[in-house]
Amino acid sequence: MNEDEINPDDDDAKQDNDSVEHDIKLLKCVKCGEYTLKDICPRCGEKAINPKPAKFSPEDRYGKYRRMMKKELEKEELQNV
Ligand SMILES: [Zn+2]
Repeated sequence: MNEDEINPDDDDAKQDNDSVEHDIKLLKCVKCGEYTLKDICPRCGEKAINPKPAKFSPEDRYGKYRRMMKKELEKEELQNV
């Protein structure tokens, strides 16, 4: 089953998402702020956590972008008339 076929609108968002580094889990040291891919900071040995808030949702973000795009398009249409 291919969900992309069912919802072409969602497919657009996925293509945009590919250009973002969503595959890389970059963690940030809680102590010195060093960025690392490991759970432990290579610099000071403190634990590193995901600097992004847990509530962060890429889908929400793209929903927002899409709404902004739509607004811009509507504006242009009005100007062209
Ligand atoms: Zn550190």
